[in-house]
Amino acid sequence: MDLNAYKSCRLCPRKCGIDRTSAKGRCGMGAAPVVAKASLHMWEEPCISYKNGAGTVFFSGCSLHCCFCQNNVISNELFGRELTPARLADVFISLQDRGADNIDLVTPTHFVPDIICALDMVRHKLSIPVVYNTSGYELPETIAALDGYIDVYMPDIKYFSSEAASRYSNAPNYFEYASAAVKAMTEQVGELRYNEDGGLVRGTIIRHLVMPGLRHDSMKILDWIAENIFPERALVSIMNQYTPFGHIPADMSEINRRVTKMEYNSVVRHAQGLGIKGFTQENSSAGTEYVPDFDLSGI
Ligand code: SF4
Repeated sequence: MDLNAYKSCRLCPRKCGIDRTSAKGRCGMGAAPVVAKASLHMWEEPCISYKNGAGTVFFSGCSLHCCFCQNNVISNELFGRELTPARLADVFISLQDRGADNIDLVTPTHFVPDIICALDMVRHKLSIPVVYNTSGYELPETIAALDGYIDVYMPDIKYFSSEAASRYSNAPNYFEYASAAVKAMTEQVGELRYNEDGGLVRGTIIRHLVMPGLRHDSMKILDWIAENIFPERALVSIMNQYTPFGHIPADMSEINRRVTKMEYNSVVRHAQGLGIKGFTQENSSAGTEYVPDFDLSGI
């Protein structure tokens, strides 16, 4: 895949088909990568932020646009600075020089051609893993194009039901694409592998954010994972940081609250019953501490 992919963009399941060199698609972005921050980040899972922190690169724009997004400033308001692929490559090397545990590409889908271009420039200098940290709303062709570039996939599976996916992300086909993408990711990078410091250097972490009123949806996702994903290839991170940040639409008041202890714990117990291995979060973890200051630092 090269930069020509932007000329009739079908990088994600939205399949806008527009020319991003002169217009913007549903993700809100043209053809040059826009980044809001590049920094060492200690709040990822312990095997991702294990020593000095993940080398996060926060891309602006998003193909999914969840109404509750905690990174609304960059995903919907599109704050960020435009870079060239060469400058993006320099950002990767600079993070490695600062001691980053990995290069953690956050919401990268709509810039995959630029990311491949940047990695082609500096792959021979990178000695740390490259992590692809995504909403899960992906096309198999885009994941196939990343073969050989990505060491660790970190996809969300957000919804099982198409009603919830439609209501909160305007993506009724979300699970169809996310489940196929997660399967493709685990097949591409294979079994979990760690370095001597306990850092994940190969494999997949499937993330799931428990949402208010959707614990049964969460359980269906866990059932699907238990039935379809080899446990030696993926860990599951059950997240408890859902926080209504003030921009939930008035007609979606059912998600304008935090997840209760009962809701979260019941999902965790379900995972334990299925023998799923991975990570959980304390009940106190909902809040603003997981939202970085998007201040253009590091770029
Ligand atoms: S990456 Fe953006 S322009 Fe391309 S198909 Fe997805 S939403 Fe549309």
